[in-house]
Amino acid sequence: MDLVIKGAKIVTPAGLLEGEIYVQEGKIAGIGKLGLSAKEVIDAGGLLAMPGMVDAHVHFMDPGATEREDFITGSSAAAVGGVTTVIEHTHAMPVRTAQFLQEKARYLGPRSLVDYGLAAHVWPEDIEHIQEVWEAGALFLKAFTCTTHGVPGLTPSDLLRLFQKIFSFNGVCLVHCEDEWITMEAERRLKKLGRKDGMVIPEWRNREAELVAVNTVALLARLTGARVVIAHVSHPAVLDLIRRERVLGANLWAESCPQYFYLLEEEVQEKGAYRKFTPPARNRSVEDMEEMWHRLARGEISYIATDHAPATKAQKEEGDIWSVHFGLPGVETTLSLMLNGVAEGYLSLPRLVEAVCEMPARVYGLYPKKGTLQPGADADIVLVDPQAERILTDSEIVSKAGWTPYAGRRIKGKPVMTFLRGKLIARDGKVTADPGIGHFLTRSAPRM
Ligand SMILES: [Zn+2]
Repeated sequence: MDLVIKGAKIVTPAGLLEGEIYVQEGKIAGIGKLGLSAKEVIDAGGLLAMPGMVDAHVHFMDPGATEREDFITGSSAAAVGGVTTVIEHTHAMPVRTAQFLQEKARYLGPRSLVDYGLAAHVWPEDIEHIQEVWEAGALFLKAFTCTTHGVPGLTPSDLLRLFQKIFSFNGVCLVHCEDEWITMEAERRLKKLGRKDGMVIPEWRNREAELVAVNTVALLARLTGARVVIAHVSHPAVLDLIRRERVLGANLWAESCPQYFYLLEEEVQEKGAYRKFTPPARNRSVEDMEEMWHRLARGEISYIATDHAPATKAQKEEGDIWSVHFGLPGVETTLSLMLNGVAEGYLSLPRLVEAVCEMPARVYGLYPKKGTLQPGADADIVLVDPQAERILTDSEIVSKAGWTPYAGRRIKGKPVMTFLRGKLIARDGKVTADPGIGHFLTRSAPRM
């Protein structure tokens, strides 16, 4: 064997196991008390071992907006945060063709510290031949219901055509849901009033806009049978709509992100651009946040991603609340924040592993290569100290953003060592490998 990790408590969706993890040629070769010898021995000293997080929603901006992030800094942040697989898409230079998907995958070859798949964006005029980019290896097709970040919104009629197409080749679509007309009208009204305060954000990107769009998208998913994921669900009422259509037979999943578990709507008042992301934070109380944790524990939220969309402090301070970039950095803090939810008793470790590793790998066709510690899987392993407490600070952030919306927060639970296919890529917040170690990922047969 090439490597054995001893003395870890191994977390699986079925429960915790004691034993060794054996690695041979980058893959898990065995789990349990097998007593085999290995060239390299790591004593985990009682730490938890879990699969590396599969972050299905990141924007590393490379190529496209590398002044905000690039693949080297973004994937370094991922490695440090316990993320070993990302699925990336960049709005500033979207993948719309099979040819560009292949070019981008090749360009990123020397630039990633973690394994990476790519997603493609859907333009209304591309729907008829959208299968080409899917067949070329796009792990999902990203659609918007509202014109955002320069990507045109799809009408219900476009979505109907798109979902029918996707159903025909068993593709999967991730949809950003905010209603075009409601957001447009709110923008017009707020601008006419001359409003430039932070509360513009939740009034512009309001709850009703998200609900109306989700209502339409979820219904169309059921009517067509297409596999659809609702991106970054911000509050429980959205989950009620998703549940309604799931009960009626829709192939629907719900993605959410830590900002909808930790940040309050009112913070945008004081923090302005540093809380400008969309859909915005909706929580108004601790009870609202607890409800999100309960929905995650119950499986109504299918999986957690980061929606990592960083901008530096200088970029967040340019222009006014209308013109400044949307988005938060998050790829390196998400696993820690979710582990903190375990420490606070909201979530079991097996459910955590299901929500941050196994489910995203299954939905996007990467399972069982990714998202699981079982023989034959890639040896993507994170050793976690569930007792380690720290106060998050901007200074620990590896992303080009250089800040985190969670600075000052005391949390419990920390990724200590990250292995990609058996190679140590990060330890104690520092990268220990070189860019280029990450491989481009395509889909194995979808298991969902
Ligand atoms: Zn996003």
